[in-house]
This record gives sequence, structure tokens and C-alpha cells, in this order.
Amino acid sequence: MAPGPIDQPEKEQADANPAPKLSKGVVLGPDGKPCRTCTDVSSLFAMTKGTTTKKRPALPTDCPPDVAQLGRSSWTLLHSITAQYPEKPSSEKQAETSTFMKTFAKLYPCWHCAGDFQEWMANGNAPRVSSRDEFGRWMCEAHNAVNVKLGKSVFDCGRWEERWRTGWKDGRCDF
Ligand SMILES: Cc1cc2nc3c(=O)[nH]c(=O)nc-3n(C[C@H](O)[C@H](O)[C@H](O)COP(=O)(O)OP(=O)(O)OC[C@H]3O[C@@H](n4cnc5c(N)ncnc54)[C@H](O)[C@@H]3O)c2cc1C
Repeated sequence: MAPGPIDQPEKEQADANPAPKLSKGVVLGPDGKPCRTCTDVSSLFAMTKGTTTKKRPALPTDCPPDVAQLGRSSWTLLHSITAQYPEKPSSEKQAETSTFMKTFAKLYPCWHCAGDFQEWMANGNAPRVSSRDEFGRWMCEAHNAVNVKLGKSVFDCGRWEERWRTGWKDGRCDF
């Protein structure tokens, strides 16, 4: 969940320009300016238009992503990586994959999401990568941790492979 508008690292806050009028949910980036990839675009719209309503016209599809668009694309990439992961990965593949996940969590371009994800991994949730199913379930649990944080439904991790690899058993994804 997005922190309040003044939730940014102290040093960076000190370097910031005079604070813009921020609406609820707008998160600042390291430069002290509203961070689009950390914020729902509706909150940014409410701030720039000076309204309290978050209703906004749909943006064209070729605009920079907000936190939700970035998240959907990122989960698609991450779950698709687990879907293509070997059933019996080599030790080298396992090591590379763990390193990738740790690096991904550091580089994720929404700083508060990245911080929480790193903390989740450090608290007994290191990547489990010894097989495709294990990695797929671990990714599902990682995604569920964010779902819970955002107050969304928890996904049934017993069905991760249907969602991201084989398609649903009812055949609706077949062609
Ligand atoms: C590492 C990471 C951290 C994030 N942290 C934050 C944050 O702190 N604050 C914030 O506002 N946003 C965060 N996001 C974005 C957030 O998770 C969502 O992507 C965003 O809110 C859009 O949600 P959505 O409802 O469209 O679907 P998404 O949550 O993006 O899910 C896309 C699709 O994945 C499937 N799915 C859902 N849950 C699971 C699961 N557990 N396993 C497998 N498949 C599943 C569903 O079919 C769903 O439609 C984060 C994203 C990532 C990748």
C-alpha cells in the first residue's frame, strides 16, 4: 500500500524542492518530486487538478506506467519466468535465479514496494528455486503477500500453473 505523501527517506526529503500540494496517496521519489511508478495515477490526477475526486479520464496506453500498471507488467514477467523454469534446474540456474530475484527486489522502480519486498524476502522468505513448482509457489506467495498488504483477495497457489503456464482446466485459454 502506498505510504503517505511525506513518507520518503529523510535525506532525500531534506534535498527536496518546496513541497508541492500533495493529495492522499501521492508518494515522493528520491528527487522529492511525485513518483509516478510509486503512485496510483488517480492520486496524481487529483493532485494536479486540485480536486478531491480521483475520477480521471482514461490515459492513452503509451504513457509512463503508474504503480498498478508497473505491478501488473512485473507480475506477468515474474510468473512467466517461473512458468518457463526447468522442473529440475541445475545448481547454476538455481543460483542465478536467486541472485536475479534479490537484484530485482533492489532495482524495482517503486521504492516503497522494493523496500517491502526485500524485507519480506529477508524475513524467512528467501527464493525457493529447487524446482519449477517450488519456484512458482514461492512467487505466488510473494504476490499474495502484496495482495494482503493492499487488501486484495489471496490467490490459490495450488492453481498458479493453470494461471501462468497451462491455462485453466476448463479450456477457456485454449486455441
Ligand atoms: C514486487 C512487487 C511489489 C509491489 N508492491 C506494491 C506496493 O507496495 N503497493 C502497491 O500499491 N502496489 C504494489 N505492487 C503492484 C501490485 O501488486 C499490483 O500489481 C497492482 O496493484 C495492480 O493490481 P491488479 O489487481 O491489477 O493485479 P495484480 O496484483 O498485478 O495481478 C495480476 C494478475 O495476477 C494474478 N494473480 C494475483 N495474485 C496472484 C498470485 N498470488 N499468484 C499468481 N497469480 C496471481 C491474477 O490473475 C491477476 O489478475 C507491487 C508489485 C510488485 C511486482
